Amino acid sequence: MLTPKQKEYMRLLVEVGVNIQQGQKLIISCQVENAEFARECQRIAYENGCQEVIMRWIDDPTTRMKYLHAADEVFDTCPEWLVRFMTDYSREGAATLHLVSDDPESLLGVDPSRLARWAKVSGEALKEYREMMMRNENAWSIGALSAPAWAKKVFPELPEAEAIEALWDKIFTAVRVLGDGSAVGNWQKHAAKLKERMHILNEYNFKALRYRNALGTDFTVELAENHVWEAGGDVTTKGVPFMPNMPTEEIFTAPRKTGANGVVMASMPLCLKGTIINDIRFVFENGKIIEATASSGEALLREEIALDEGASFLGEVALVPYDSPIRQAQVLFYETLYDENASCHLAFGEAYPSCIKGGTAMSKDESKAAGLNDSITHVDFMLGTEDLSIVGITQDGVEMPVFVDGLFAF
Ligand code: ZN
Ligand code: ZN
Repeated sequence: MLTPKQKEYMRLLVEVGVNIQQGQKLIISCQVENAEFARECQRIAYENGCQEVIMRWIDDPTTRMKYLHAADEVFDTCPEWLVRFMTDYSREGAATLHLVSDDPESLLGVDPSRLARWAKVSGEALKEYREMMMRNENAWSIGALSAPAWAKKVFPELPEAEAIEALWDKIFTAVRVLGDGSAVGNWQKHAAKLKERMHILNEYNFKALRYRNALGTDFTVELAENHVWEAGGDVTTKGVPFMPNMPTEEIFTAPRKTGANGVVMASMPLCLKGTIINDIRFVFENGKIIEATASSGEALLREEIALDEGASFLGEVALVPYDSPIRQAQVLFYETLYDENASCHLAFGEAYPSCIKGGTAMSKDESKAAGLNDSITHVDFMLGTEDLSIVGITQDGVEMPVFVDGLFAF
């Protein structure tokens, strides 16, 4: 039985997250252990006139067994049915809802080359699907559900049942669900607030941002020409508003592919493909990562930035103040959806076409020519700290504070 808060949250994901439309199809991915949440989302989707819900069940232990024991050649071909499944439904305009509750270490110790080979073949095979998603042709949304393995990683000191409850509490706070039916209104207010700062950043139209902190980050990134800062949700190419991430605290844009220089020290661990990567240090030169080290998970990190040419260049610059409600939760979530919304971050890999003017109508070649990075991957990593300073450099070279001591200067 779902609690009233859980039900309100599922409604929020379906009606605001993917904003399901009459006659539209909906794909839901969900861990089997959380099936009742997926069923509730299905019920709400049908209530809203959804044509058909298509389920993609996920099971962490099954995935782990496959990576450990399946024949090696399995990781070198993406089956045609999967390509058809993802691409055909997207062409038909299906929305996608990802209910995530992954065990952060479900793939610990798995051969990183198997993960990388699969990422490469599936990334290439699913190119059309991915491009449609990145261009916002259809609504998509990611929301998290508490689950035993994840909750125990976040709250190792608590017994399992209490850890699951504690994680639910953090999730509800972050997604502004109080259980009194106010969630949709709370989100409208929150999105409007994010957009106020987004407008200010768009007015400034900075040429570059310079980051510094005591951790050792000393880094400058140029922003794409005609870049657009985005926040508080997106609109599909068909004009339907949706919320790609719930929660969301970030204001983000696209860097110029070749414009990153200097040292970036990650300020939080990164959970990537069922493995935790600690103490990432990147050195950038003319946009490219020329050095990548980590105190754990380094092999996986190196495989990831070598997936294709664009994987070692940046695709996103995102600003999140140090006092974000998710940071104030004072826990490390080991889930990028949450941790990236607690901290200023960057992403290496693909850039969002919507982050430059007219970008969603551009062909791949046009967006590349406009300076946007292209890759089969997109991985956010966190660099925000309490003492982070970011200076914006205007088109005429004037410097002005954007972040002072981890917080917005305006
Ligand atoms: Zn982001
Ligand atoms: Zn991102």
